[in-house]
Amino acid sequence: MTGLVIVGHGTRSAAGVDQFAALVERVRRRGDVGDVEGGFIELSRPPLTDAVGALVARGHRALVALPLVLTAAGHGKGDIPAAMAREQERHPGLSYRYGRPLGPHPLLHDALEERIDAALAGADRAGTALAGAVQADTVDRAGTWVALIGRGSTDPDANAEVAKVARLLWEGRGYAGVEPGFVSLASPSVPAVLERLRRLGARRIVVAPYFLFAGVLPDRIVAQSAEFAAAHPDLDVRVAEVIGDCDALADLVRERYAEALGGDIRMNCDTCAYRVLMPGFADKVGRPQRPHDHPDDPVGHHHHHGHDHGHAHDHGSVAVVGGGPGPDDLITVRGKALLDAADVVVVDRLAPQGLLAGLRPDVLVVDAAKVPRGPSMAQEAINAALVSHARAGRRVVRLKGGDPYVFGRGHEEVQACTAAGVPVTVVPGVSSAIAAPALAGVPVTHRGVAHDVTVVSGHLPPGHPDSLVDWAALARARGTVVLLMAVDTIAKIASVLIEHGRAPETPVLAVQDAGQADQRSVPARLDEIGAVATREDIRPPAVFVLGPVVALSTTGPTV
Ligand code: SAH
Repeated sequence: MTGLVIVGHGTRSAAGVDQFAALVERVRRRGDVGDVEGGFIELSRPPLTDAVGALVARGHRALVALPLVLTAAGHGKGDIPAAMAREQERHPGLSYRYGRPLGPHPLLHDALEERIDAALAGADRAGTALAGAVQADTVDRAGTWVALIGRGSTDPDANAEVAKVARLLWEGRGYAGVEPGFVSLASPSVPAVLERLRRLGARRIVVAPYFLFAGVLPDRIVAQSAEFAAAHPDLDVRVAEVIGDCDALADLVRERYAEALGGDIRMNCDTCAYRVLMPGFADKVGRPQRPHDHPDDPVGHHHHHGHDHGHAHDHGSVAVVGGGPGPDDLITVRGKALLDAADVVVVDRLAPQGLLAGLRPDVLVVDAAKVPRGPSMAQEAINAALVSHARAGRRVVRLKGGDPYVFGRGHEEVQACTAAGVPVTVVPGVSSAIAAPALAGVPVTHRGVAHDVTVVSGHLPPGHPDSLVDWAALARARGTVVLLMAVDTIAKIASVLIEHGRAPETPVLAVQDAGQADQRSVPARLDEIGAVATREDIRPPAVFVLGPVVALSTTGPTV
């Protein structure tokens, strides 16, 4: 079974170290996560390197490394991965899967609730509760306000998580209110949040440290609360215990271990300051993670093995992203993630315009139709814009309609980037060639009806000297033909197909503005589609789908 190394940051508090060790022992005793060791990246013993060394000595070459942290801030995002990188250098061939931070998780909320109730029942760390004010069986939650105090971080994402836990702790538990506060680095401070609660009319306040184990900071919460209580003798202020070594925590460790083993690590990066520009934190975006400096450590000097977040600003890049046929939610998850992280978006007219509204205000949106150019220089000018933005260190998304490689000239852009030495990636999209018929109720293939589908550009009419399409072969084939860019050429195409053998009564469906609120589809026979399209004023963007599948349409009339 894959070994587990539980990684703590380290503390100057002996009680905190003992609680950590007791938790590791509790997990080990349960026997359901294989081989377990725990270690600290600084300040406390045993050091991480001993824990990893012990597991390696017992034959492990693949580990789960679980950061024993409540929120993903600097320790979880940077310091611990950096320390693990050092271990990998010490033990060539060692691999590890990195687990998700513990919170926010309902097991933790339940544990916090228990600690708060215990404080209400008399187990008050600050020793300032009014004597006998509350008995365990008469816990008056409706008259109790909770100040949930997190560590505090320069990482807004981590602070936001404490606010989230405060809210979740409030929901359904009947407290008068739960307010978040922080003991260091972030506001409101402990005195500030207590004062806020006092002004809200609180008479009884339980200060609940959102901390795993004892330490210098939880002690500071106790001291600050006691000071506030002393200044306000009319208030009942109590301080709850930290979460501490307990079964709930061991359950959670097992869950995170299983998650990491299963490759199912759902760390939410949506609001990570290293990925996303947040007001006041622009300097963090794309910044590589550096290990703490450990002058006593012979390994890793002057090396940096953090996990960088793949968005380093000094390395610009281009992603050619298929945006799908139009609706905002038909882009791929990967495409959307790249869009969210982009500095520059070069957009086509047919790309989903609604997605632009969701971009950060500082993103430069370049309308590709308006890129300055000379006559017939459009593509070259776009390519040049992609390359120059990327060379300036920007993350560029080239947002296109449908799929970038279906008549999208996407590969020309990829080639231009490659030729310029700019890193480029392609994200496929849902092509209108398949999606527009589908959205109009027509499957482009169907068992027993059509075993082939041909996607054809109607941009050049049959007979045009530059045309590469074998219209006669398409006429002889029996399957589905989907025509793009054919609004102006459909009459000519239909007559050539009939001339070479397609049945005049072959059903055709014109689908205009697929996926949009004003989507419409117009059916006709092949020998009538030209006239019908003109009469019905079919306009781009539209596809024509023809063949026996059209008769299967589930929406609207068919011929
Ligand atoms: N790369 C795109 C196609 C680009 S060519 C894709 O994979 O979808 C442009 C043509 O696509 C248009 O002339 C039209 O034929 C078709 N098209 C694009 N979006 C469409 C939509 N929402 N409804 C109908 N046709 C569409």
